[in-house]
Amino acid sequence: MIPVTKPFLPPREVYDKFVDGIWHRQWLTNMGPLASQLEMDLKDFLQVNHLLFVTNGTVALQMALKALAVSGEVITTPFSFVATTSSIVWEGCQPVFVDIDPQSLNIDPTKIEAAITAKTSAILATHVYGNPCDVEAIERIAKKHKLKVIYDGAHAFGVKVNGRSVFEYGDVSICSLHATKLYHSIEGGLIITKDPSLLKKLASMRNFGISGFESFADLGINAKNSEFHAAMGLANLELVNGIMEKRVALIHRYESKLKNFKAFRPKWHDKSANNGAYLPYVLESEELLLKVKKELDGHEIFTRRYFYPSLAKALPYLDPVEMPVTDSTAKRVLCLPLFYELTFEEVDIICRIILRTQNN
Ligand SMILES: *Cc1c(COP(=O)(O)O)cnc(C)c1O
Repeated sequence: MIPVTKPFLPPREVYDKFVDGIWHRQWLTNMGPLASQLEMDLKDFLQVNHLLFVTNGTVALQMALKALAVSGEVITTPFSFVATTSSIVWEGCQPVFVDIDPQSLNIDPTKIEAAITAKTSAILATHVYGNPCDVEAIERIAKKHKLKVIYDGAHAFGVKVNGRSVFEYGDVSICSLHATKLYHSIEGGLIITKDPSLLKKLASMRNFGISGFESFADLGINAKNSEFHAAMGLANLELVNGIMEKRVALIHRYESKLKNFKAFRPKWHDKSANNGAYLPYVLESEELLLKVKKELDGHEIFTRRYFYPSLAKALPYLDPVEMPVTDSTAKRVLCLPLFYELTFEEVDIICRIILRTQNN
């Protein structure tokens, strides 16, 4: 059996080294020393000035919308994980979908302006599969129309664009450290901003809005993460360079074997490098996709239609909207198995089955 993904577990002794300290201090949560250490080490690793470690990526999105006082309409992409859209609705705002670019699969900046109304207050875009959006075009539009920009960088851990962390673009970026992501703390999320006063507000919001023993500064929530999650984050951070290298090498192996596959790889931003988060292919037709998927399933090799269906159509709490590029792409996109323990031999087997099925 080959799953589509498999959470990375560090060697037990690497995790235990951090957990021993937790038993010694008996400090389990509430901005403990490991959580603080993780924030410092991640700032260093990602080369960002300010970040917060929170419970998950979804609450990070909700806090970003709340802290920036986003209201009314939010322009967003229909080609993402459900949390991108649901967080907008959860915060009492209305998502306005803009179709994606057929090559990058990110929100198409040339279609954003047509969707702006007097009620628009923000753009929430996803760096899909870790591939940076056209951050410069989005910044120009946002400046012109005085809109806030939030990036869902759940997939974009370690990604740089123009030599800078992709998380430094926009007013706020978030990342997910969920177990299925490239780099994880079991459950976890990051909020990144360049604005120190906004960071302060977010830090207070993370802890119920408490500002002192008997005072409150903001409306808050509980988004603190625990020392055990921080320990996993610290253990995995020691190994993450090797994890990314292996995953990128696996992607190259797939690409070299699948040159004749009737499918294309989404076009990566030309001033950025792939972090190895996912391996999507956009196939020639949905018919071919179903055929390939079924054949792989029969060999107990599991793939995922990630992201299918379009968020502009799939959510029972929103009226469905046709998005021609997203609709056509979402039907044909398949993510192939990619995880640290996958071997080159397994990749070769998967590729052989794909090519044989396609040519049958
Ligand atoms: C995983 C994911 C999220 C949510 O992150 P959690 O940490 O699971 O809450 C948000 N957006 C995208 C694009 C994701 O893939």
